[in-house]
Amino acid sequence: MFAGPNAASNTTAGKNDVVVLKRADLNKPSGDNRLNASITRTLLNSGALMSVANKRLHIKIRIMGEKLKIFNGKILTPYRLIRQGTVVVSNGKIVEVSAGNIDVPDAEEIDAKGNYIAPGFIDMHVHGGGGHDFMDGSENAFLRIAETHAQYGTTAMLPTTLTAETEELYKTLELYEQANRNNTAGAQFLGIHLEGPYFAMSQRGAQDPRYIRNPDPKEYKGILSRSSSIKRWSAAPELEGALEFAHYLKSKGILVALAHTDALYDETLVAFENGYTLATHFYSCMTGVTRKNALRYAGVVESAYLIDEMDVEVIADGIHCPPPLLKLIYKIKGTDRMALITDSMRAAGMPEGDSILGSLHDGLKVIVEDGVAKLPDRTSFAGSVATADRLVRTMVKEAEIPLLEAVRMITNTPASILGITDRKGTLIPGKDADIVIIDGDIQVQKTIVNGRVIFDKELDKQNLELALK
Ligand SMILES: [Zn+2]
Repeated sequence: MFAGPNAASNTTAGKNDVVVLKRADLNKPSGDNRLNASITRTLLNSGALMSVANKRLHIKIRIMGEKLKIFNGKILTPYRLIRQGTVVVSNGKIVEVSAGNIDVPDAEEIDAKGNYIAPGFIDMHVHGGGGHDFMDGSENAFLRIAETHAQYGTTAMLPTTLTAETEELYKTLELYEQANRNNTAGAQFLGIHLEGPYFAMSQRGAQDPRYIRNPDPKEYKGILSRSSSIKRWSAAPELEGALEFAHYLKSKGILVALAHTDALYDETLVAFENGYTLATHFYSCMTGVTRKNALRYAGVVESAYLIDEMDVEVIADGIHCPPPLLKLIYKIKGTDRMALITDSMRAAGMPEGDSILGSLHDGLKVIVEDGVAKLPDRTSFAGSVATADRLVRTMVKEAEIPLLEAVRMITNTPASILGITDRKGTLIPGKDADIVIIDGDIQVQKTIVNGRVIFDKELDKQNLELALK
């Protein structure tokens, strides 16, 4: 929740437990600090905060003024590194990116303190976070997920559905529109990604088998007529009717991705020719080298390597894809065909322990430990809890991939796959001012969406200290 430019300058504790502060308020001495602390304490006492344990409070700063100057940072455009530079923002757009500290009259200033200034992270496959799932059936879930991931550098995302009853899907489509209008404190929504229900049963992974079926034109046309916000759909291309389905999606300008599939090389080639240009969560729930009657066949994984123009998205948490595989994918597909995704479930950004995969009322009980969700008997993974910063950290520290390349894989590459490079993915004049400031350890310091600071680690820490006093 953000107040408009003419809003009163006093702090207000809103219904959604977000407190709006003017920067001036934060610089005022004890009186106002006591006020902030008392509001924070009230929130803590009322239990309004999702978790004190995760050390994050919904207290935000609103940068006043139309112009913003971010200086003293190492800028990752991310095609090059500017060792010490300045990014200037005006009315939500980047207007200048240059070396040195330039003079910008009347601008609010942010000292990047020698940290990296990068484009905001774009997560094109995410189900939840902060304890919520996009299919929880509430607008609040959408907003809290967007805020949670913003704390980890995500500035734009594609809310992703699970296979479910059609009525539940319709509700989610409706809620998306409502949440999108009210989403002012989190990562932006770029449209909806439907994951399923047209999947191969044998590759369903954590998708609910009750709802898995072949594409039905009447059904998918009905779903698409309900929402103009569907931007991507993942399906198994070898199913009956799956190519016709892809043609229909392409005619509507929707990105078609192959997922949860048993396709082999020949089928994958045909799928690619017919519009399946992206492999969803590469390596997970898809074929690799397969043997049938003693003969060996190339699966989707090998096909995606062989088809140069095929894009892949990767859960680069170091667990779903361990570092040697991350290195291999990078080596073969390269920076511009490999996008990093979280594919995270509700437990992302939460302390480890018990959680639920999918629906709150009849989802799967899972346990989160060692940075991943597992089935209670620990025989299988049951979802990712990655955040965007962790993906970049894993790529750099464990897969030994240069920072500039890793950042591009979660900024310009997803923007390119989604067809939005005219607005997103790079720090270039004319683009949306979606910016993240990260330190040398790839920890997020500030997240800026459309020129507004929506997460500030320093402020977060101060607020927490005040709250705990
Ligand atoms: Zn998914």
